[in-house]
Amino acid sequence: MTETYDFLIVGGGPAGLSAAITAVRNGFSALLLEQGDRLGPFPRGEGVSHHPLFDQLLGKGFLEERSYQTNHGALFHSPGAHQQAFKPAARPIHFFEWRDFIDRLGEVATVSGAVIRTSCRVTGVVEDDRGQCIGVRYVDEAGVQQSAQGATVFGCDGHRSVVGRHYQVDHEALSCPIIKCRLAHASFDPVQTKALQFFLIGNGDLPMAPRFPPCVAYAFPLPDQKMEVGLMLRMGRAPAMVTVDRPNAGTLTAVWSELKQSYPKFRRYFEGADIEFEQPTDLPNATLWRNNVPALGAVLLGDSVGFVDPFGSSGILSSMRMAQLWTDLIAATMGQARGRSQRLWTARNLAKWRRAYVASGCYRHVRNNYLKIGMVEWVVFKHLRSADRINRRWGAIARLLALG
Ligand SMILES: Cc1cc2nc3c(=O)[nH]c(=O)nc-3n(C[C@H](O)[C@H](O)[C@H](O)COP(=O)(O)OP(=O)(O)OC[C@H]3O[C@@H](n4cnc5c(N)ncnc54)[C@H](O)[C@@H]3O)c2cc1C
Repeated sequence: MTETYDFLIVGGGPAGLSAAITAVRNGFSALLLEQGDRLGPFPRGEGVSHHPLFDQLLGKGFLEERSYQTNHGALFHSPGAHQQAFKPAARPIHFFEWRDFIDRLGEVATVSGAVIRTSCRVTGVVEDDRGQCIGVRYVDEAGVQQSAQGATVFGCDGHRSVVGRHYQVDHEALSCPIIKCRLAHASFDPVQTKALQFFLIGNGDLPMAPRFPPCVAYAFPLPDQKMEVGLMLRMGRAPAMVTVDRPNAGTLTAVWSELKQSYPKFRRYFEGADIEFEQPTDLPNATLWRNNVPALGAVLLGDSVGFVDPFGSSGILSSMRMAQLWTDLIAATMGQARGRSQRLWTARNLAKWRRAYVASGCYRHVRNNYLKIGMVEWVVFKHLRSADRINRRWGAIARLLALG
């Protein structure tokens, strides 16, 4: 027998769990299906600026208690040279452990009454004969094909979203490859190195991979000589650059190894350090995908629709705000249409929700950041391109970065 819920949520990351908590707090039933054997199986972002939403969803004070806070700003390094720009942080950034954060969201969702099932991989979308999304098919823990129905289906299944793919979201165009790495015993002076470090690497600065896209290596100092380091490819302008190819996994790994061994300043962090975690993945922040309601009945939230800050540093908050907003909007209309999804999913209701979403602070924040980072990327990576030219125009670049 197919189970039916008010909200059927695919994916147990920040977006899916926020939607589940919000749905049940509004008095509706919610089933969340997660493919991993635990929620959010792989760590992704672990740094956020504080926002009241974290108190609402995690519990008051949880983030402060369980995180390391820093407001030493950010230091941008021009390619291989000594110039730097400093942008003080407006608010402290909280660094936390992904497992702590996700497990806490899972606990709040379960205690609030959401049904959560892990080891359930969603394989497809179920539609009725007028094309409305009414559920999903999934493979359960025992390997058995199942299906579930929802008056609303949320695709919260991240950067390789099955729900998004069903609705032709072009994840190739949205995605920027990224390497996430965690160091213990990292080699840095905690007194001198307090700010978040960003190293701009121009197109053509890597002789061993001359067609590598523009990218930014980063290093975030953490307590106890730990550090989060990584390499973020900036694909926003890359399709318009004839000198650039999208790298395959082999090239990405080779460039990362090279930077670890020889990129000035950056390589020092690895001397004598232990690598606790190192994984190539994707961050869907190359462009803004506007249509997050691709069909009646289905809403794409968080990374499944590329809704992250283009700086790669507020995807968690943006995903959670977006999930809360859409769940609240639909829940507010649902009272009158309970159990009748065709009355809920009218063109009129959809237009009303879309208007509210586009007017929301959450949508405007991301759209404005896309515009700002797009400008910086155009100047640095499309217009200037070489290390030499970037260094010569560093003053202007620093002023542009300060706008972000
Ligand atoms: C290296 C890296 C660093 C980052 N740094 C930051 C940062 O410092 N600050 C910040 O705010 N953001 C950061 N981000 C972005 C942030 O992590 C994401 O924007 C955020 O996790 C998006 O949440 P989500 O719930 O939409 O997707 P995800 O966190 O990706 O969760 C998706 C969930 O869906 C599940 N799933 C996938 N497919 C299926 C399926 N078929 N069936 C069932 N379940 C499925 C997955 O297992 C996963 O649990 C970073 C991302 C990366 C990769």
